Amino acid sequence: MKDSLLYIILIVGIFWWIHWRLNKITYYDYGNKDKATKKICILTGVHGDEIAGPRTVQKMVDEGYFHKIEKMRPELFIRVIPCVNRYGYIYHKRGQKKEKNEDINRNFGEDGPIDEISNELFGLVREMDLVIDFHEGYDFHKMNPDSIGSTITPSNQTKGIGYILLKRVNEKIEEEGKKFTIRIHNCYKYNTLGCYLERLNKDYILVETTGKKEKQDLHIRMNQIRIIINTLMSII
Ligand SMILES: [Zn+2]
Repeated sequence: MKDSLLYIILIVGIFWWIHWRLNKITYYDYGNKDKATKKICILTGVHGDEIAGPRTVQKMVDEGYFHKIEKMRPELFIRVIPCVNRYGYIYHKRGQKKEKNEDINRNFGEDGPIDEISNELFGLVREMDLVIDFHEGYDFHKMNPDSIGSTITPSNQTKGIGYILLKRVNEKIEEEGKKFTIRIHNCYKYNTLGCYLERLNKDYILVETTGKKEKQDLHIRMNQIRIIINTLMSII
């Protein structure tokens, strides 16, 4: 009897820990934050069902891509968050289990983040000079303007960078309708992280590949994200 009670406590404890862990953000830091002249954050996986970003960025972490950059560019500090919403990623859901976290990227109100994970995310990006955030839309914006798939949305100060990223990523896309376009932020409508950072006058770039609902092969989207990160690293 005593043994079975211990087992139950142990199992409940493990489940609780897994749940707690899935709601925490894992990140990797490269470079010396105090000495760096430029601090960049690459983040993805805010929406758990947009998988190309987390797959690409985690792969680049595992391959040692950012370690190589760290060695070559001591003036940079790079914070990499491969999957903000790990709960959603594992269960293939946009949000998290808690009702208020139905969409983490609508939880950045006038006064800032309103829940635990958006607060944690803001804490990780607040000191950064530039944040690039990868998401996925359900269609190609050029062919279906209702979707923001295949777009780059830079903040005011990052338009120049946005156009360079656009040029490079489009070089590999043959079909005109599938090419990326530059978009303007709809900040009157949504309480997103990007809009909140923009209000704080922080540099931010939103990248949306086209991939939800199996619209485009995963390897194409992953390749586009890699081109964009490579380009960004070569121009900053
Ligand atoms: Zn998204």
